Amino acid sequence: MDDQSCPRCKTTKYRNPSLKLMVNVCGHTLCENCVDLLFVRGSGNCPDCNTPLRKNNFRVQLFEDPTVDKEVEIRKKVLKMYNKREEDFTSLVEYNDYLEEVEEIVYNLTYNVDLESTKRKMEQYQKDNKDVIQKNKVKLTREQADLEEALEEERLENEQRRLLILREEKMHQLAKKRNKQALLDDLETSHQPAYQLLALHKDRAVQLETKLEMPKLIKPSTFSTGIKMGQQISLQPAAKIEEALYDYCPLQINIYGPPVPAIRTLGRLGYLNHVRAASPQDLAGGYTSSLACHRALQDAFSGLFWKTS
Ligand SMILES: [Zn+2]
Ligand SMILES: [Zn+2]
Repeated sequence: MDDQSCPRCKTTKYRNPSLKLMVNVCGHTLCENCVDLLFVRGSGNCPDCNTPLRKNNFRVQLFEDPTVDKEVEIRKKVLKMYNKREEDFTSLVEYNDYLEEVEEIVYNLTYNVDLESTKRKMEQYQKDNKDVIQKNKVKLTREQADLEEALEEERLENEQRRLLILREEKMHQLAKKRNKQALLDDLETSHQPAYQLLALHKDRAVQLETKLEMPKLIKPSTFSTGIKMGQQISLQPAAKIEEALYDYCPLQINIYGPPVPAIRTLGRLGYLNHVRAASPQDLAGGYTSSLACHRALQDAFSGLFWKTS
């Protein structure tokens, strides 16, 4: 960790623990002092790769590898433009292709692969998808606003609930105090026997306790996700994807030697006596000795003779 250093002035974190390393869009590191020095006028060229840079594009380096910082910035920018969602595609395959394309663009920009053609591709995409990009941008802003509103509402409700509980508790304390005072007064003035007065007092105390146990609370009605509590959720199955699922077909191996005995017969034929028995750990992973044995036999048999046909 301590070998992080500024490539220009060679200051290291070890010598100067307050050293602040910065990264710009090209992914090269400079310390804060060098940035101030080199970019006095607000812009200049990267001393490493000569890319024209602006001073206010420098960010504090968060990752040990500055390329990661570069990728994070690039991804942010690319995703602003490539903001399509799954529902914008008619099939999962198309959506996956799109995601792959986005990854490729991020990779190309990060590692400077085919920069020109990638940029051209992005420009073309932006032109072709202007409406969708704008629409999804609006959608995202709206969703965020809704979520914030729901969170704020929940916070207010919690606050109200807290105040209510506090008030109830205070009232309860007061009632208890009054009850006690009433007992004292009664003992002083009443002509009833003391044990009756005490029993009466106890009854009232119990009543107070049970009352506190079920304070009238405002129940929250919505989750912060915006879903109403107690709302019936549709139990209909999710729409089925009309795509051919992966179909497994067993591997056909053409070996030119004699036929290899089937896997289940290996034990009976004695082949398994020559291989290491599988340990419980091996078996847990789905391995059996016959697997390895069968494989070895296939290898061996295929080299036994050459059949020309
Ligand atoms: Zn420096
Ligand atoms: Zn650079």
